[in-house]
Amino acid sequence: MFDQFSPLVNVLLLSLVASMGTALGGALAIIRRPGRRAYGFMMGIAAGVMICLAFMELVNEAWELGGPTAATLGFGIGAVFMLVLDYLAPHLRFGEIEYHGHHPEDEFAVSDDSSLHPSRVRRRRRRGLNWGNHEGVPVDTKLISSGLLLAIGISLHNLPEGISVGAGYMHNPQFGLFIAMAIMLHNIPEGLATALPLSKGGAKRGYALGIAVLSGLAEPLGAVLASLFLGSFQNLIPGALAFAGGVMVYITLDELIPSAREYGSVHWTSLGIIVGSIFVFLLSAWMGV
Ligand SMILES: [Zn+2]
Repeated sequence: MFDQFSPLVNVLLLSLVASMGTALGGALAIIRRPGRRAYGFMMGIAAGVMICLAFMELVNEAWELGGPTAATLGFGIGAVFMLVLDYLAPHLRFGEIEYHGHHPEDEFAVSDDSSLHPSRVRRRRRRGLNWGNHEGVPVDTKLISSGLLLAIGISLHNLPEGISVGAGYMHNPQFGLFIAMAIMLHNIPEGLATALPLSKGGAKRGYALGIAVLSGLAEPLGAVLASLFLGSFQNLIPGALAFAGGVMVYITLDELIPSAREYGSVHWTSLGIIVGSIFVFLLSAWMGV
């Protein structure tokens, strides 16, 4: 099915399919806001898909193709790269956005400062976030800047996912298709998490959905750049696969799971991680990769 187009077009199409999950999730957030259980469960699925894809597929494939050194180096560099980026680029994680007009009956409750570890509170204050301020007056400029910071964070995160699709395809087209399909599922909860605070904060539906769609477009960008680069440096494919794996594991542990547990139900998050993992097992078995 891939023969009729050039590799670059195929990579672009695949990564666009993967990024469509973000739009789907964004639309879901606008139609109906999930409760804590549903939020935890869906973010758990996003996390489970990511972890399994990274270890079982990306790192494993890198190991088989390039040996332990390439797999270990790529994985380590990917994780450290993301850690450094976290410090350099100001951005917000999932759920870390100011909610206006929050009241206790809200299903999607935001925890107040008192329940957080002091270091987290300090970090949030440093970032100008005002949590637990229930009588706060909505200020549009704040909302817009928060939305923008969140979009930066999610785009940063989507770029390496695109790299995994590009590197996966350059290794083997069927493998690229498999990665793209798993990431599409992973992106549905993420699109939801992107649009949710915006729609809840009173942003227009089109704005919330637009931000979700826009953040998803970092994916094709990463995929095309990766396949262009790896087209000239084929021997770096194993390292690139492991690199994407390292980035994805770091993001899952640092952002996805903490957000799922903090803003969703803890048990439903764990259940979601298991379901997301099983999805990757089944998809892998079904596609034979
Ligand atoms: Zn993601």
